[in-house]
Amino acid sequence: MEFLEELCPPQRTILTPGPVEVDPRILRVMGMPVLGQFDPEFTGLMNETMVLLRQVFQTSNEQAYAVDGTSRAGLEAVLCSIIEPGDRVLIPVIGRFGYLLAEIAQRCRAEVKTLEVEWGHVIQPEQIEQQLANERFKLVAMVHGETSTCTIQPLEGIGALCEKYGALLAVDAVATLGGTEVRVDDWKLDACISGMQKCLSGPSGMSPLTYNWKVEKILAARKKIERGLQYGIENTACSSIIQSNYLDLAQLQDYWGPQRLNHHTEATTALYALREALRCILKEGLQKRFHRHRLNGEALMAGIEAMGLGIFGDGRNRMPFVVPVVIPAGIDGGSVRRQLLVDFGIEIAASFGPLKDRIWRIGAMGYSSQKRNILFCLAALEAVLRAHGFRTSPGGAVDAALHVYQEEEKRNGTGA
Ligand SMILES: *Cc1c(COP(=O)(O)O)cnc(C)c1O
Repeated sequence: MEFLEELCPPQRTILTPGPVEVDPRILRVMGMPVLGQFDPEFTGLMNETMVLLRQVFQTSNEQAYAVDGTSRAGLEAVLCSIIEPGDRVLIPVIGRFGYLLAEIAQRCRAEVKTLEVEWGHVIQPEQIEQQLANERFKLVAMVHGETSTCTIQPLEGIGALCEKYGALLAVDAVATLGGTEVRVDDWKLDACISGMQKCLSGPSGMSPLTYNWKVEKILAARKKIERGLQYGIENTACSSIIQSNYLDLAQLQDYWGPQRLNHHTEATTALYALREALRCILKEGLQKRFHRHRLNGEALMAGIEAMGLGIFGDGRNRMPFVVPVVIPAGIDGGSVRRQLLVDFGIEIAASFGPLKDRIWRIGAMGYSSQKRNILFCLAALEAVLRAHGFRTSPGGAVDAALHVYQEEEKRNGTGA
């Protein structure tokens, strides 16, 4: 083989809970010239990104920036910067990503206690209070939008509980930021972490996060230890340095802050993408964007139900933009997904853990959350299911979804 062909990935309709289709405005800025990391033009863009992030996280925190790496880099940065060996950490678990938090906390050598519920359910604040009242925890870490079960864990009131019992609250909002309310200040979240490839509609590779002065105090204390070790001075506020260099929030905030202390080389192109993603979100308007996600999710669900398919869970805390479709008895879930991809270029997701082979997850997040995608997916899924021997009345799903859009238009004269 002398030369490879020029790279030419196929066009896809991506309807998974991440990654999603990248907004073309974001793809465009990723082809722009790379700047040096200390070029004032570039540090200006970093500062703008921080301003935009505060608005999207709905916070007045000074610290709102991004870690280079996928969302779990942000999760790991927050956990490893807060947790010292032996610290007690409470992890309410409602699905797979709760276990990820538990695993990361364990690797930070925390004493981890998990609080688990059956998949599809959420945790009640009283259950958390019971734990906090019983023993002291330094940190509570939990997931807001649990994509494995397509469930949203309500957070109102939990931050206040943590405050009452002297614990910090860190939240994985990877799947929810930019798609539904994430109110960092109102909900008293001490730290909140997100990612690019879900409702922010970018390519994966950056993890925006924010944290408040309480977390900053821990970082400052642990940084002092580091200096103390260097100069042989004792310090007792915290007992250990932050183990990771790359994910050390104390160093990262000095790099993003006015001091601009050298750390890593910022991923220029990824930063352009994040800035554009945030700009697009605020240009659309948070409330309008949340509404768009809700409406397209409703239309998708109406179509799924019209086809005679079940939706997993009791629906009370269902994520508005990822639909857990029960795979009908006798249908090969993998074969349906393969045909959707091969014949229609549509990607939907399988599932894991107790839901493996039981549900498909169809996401409509960020730029993927569009009326035409919903209608296309429903028409395609219906045809593929019929080809697999499942009986539905042709066109019923698309009709049901269209009805949702028409009702919406009647209400306010606009579509999605
Ligand atoms: C997708 C997802 C993650 C992991 O994100 P990566 O960017 O793949 O590291 C973490 N938490 C939740 C809730 C997610 O949906």
